[in-house]
Amino acid sequence: MTTTAHSNEARSARRRALVTGASTGIGAAFAERLARDHYDLVIVARSRDRLDILAERLRKARHVHVEVLPADLTRPADLRRVEEHVVHDRHLELLVNNAGFGTVGSFAELDADKEEEEIRLNVLALVRLTRAALPGMIARGQGGIINVSSLSGFQPGPYTATYGATKAFVNSFTEALCEELRGTGVKVQALCPGFTRTEFQQRAGLDVSTIPSFAWMSPEVVVDASLAALERDQVICVPGLGNRLLATLGSTSPRRIAGRILGAVMKRTGSR
Ligand code: NAP
Repeated sequence: MTTTAHSNEARSARRRALVTGASTGIGAAFAERLARDHYDLVIVARSRDRLDILAERLRKARHVHVEVLPADLTRPADLRRVEEHVVHDRHLELLVNNAGFGTVGSFAELDADKEEEEIRLNVLALVRLTRAALPGMIARGQGGIINVSSLSGFQPGPYTATYGATKAFVNSFTEALCEELRGTGVKVQALCPGFTRTEFQQRAGLDVSTIPSFAWMSPEVVVDASLAALERDQVICVPGLGNRLLATLGSTSPRRIAGRILGAVMKRTGSR
């Protein structure tokens, strides 16, 4: 075998992770951390420029192979292209379904197409990519899938009704898969962060000026908590003690009461 063939073989034999929504925020932090852990990467988002810049930096700093896969995961043709990629990747060890966004406001007044887009990205893309990844991972007897959910998934979310419902889906779906996958060597996790400093709130048009600074986490800390929890086979990961308390309150309080309290808070926070 030639040296090139050897190095190609060595490179392709390395473990690989695919991260959606990797152009910024929590997804970019996953890409950074996984590159540091010597994963080769496939990074997916709409903004090719941002992905290219990230890829170049990781190649130089971490000496990993990074493939840029620009895609709008709300578009069926783009989603199919990424699914194909996942199905044929024999070295895919970790899938991070992170791309997502939220809409804020009274549901009756929100744009119906945007609500559909939110469901397409937060739910449909995640389900299809998970379905694409699992058969290969099960056959190889190893692998992991991290589905990025939210604290919003634990109780009804007035004024973020669709967003909260998509994340409740992600929690339920992931917990069910965890049971189905018992004994296969494949791990799944629903990562449920609270307020995290990214572009998320700005994109959602959410005024967060009243949120106290102690309530915020950095994307890097969220990612570290997620990967540590995956090691421990923890299916629901809520980073941060305060967030864990809120998750417990949200999931154990009567749903009508939890919804009423959150509705009052959201009415005050409001959209910009
Ligand atoms: P962010 O900074 O807005 O990043 C969102 C990422 O998703 C970007 O890389 C964006 O890239 C990508 N994306 C958006 N629409 C897409 C589409 N149609 N197709 C493909 N990629 C798309 O937000 P973030 O906070 O990192 O959010 C990541 C995940 O964390 C989301 O699932 C969110 O629900 C969850 N989360 C966030 C918070 C928080 O407080 N930040 C809290 C709980 C849960 P492009 O624009 O380049 O496509």
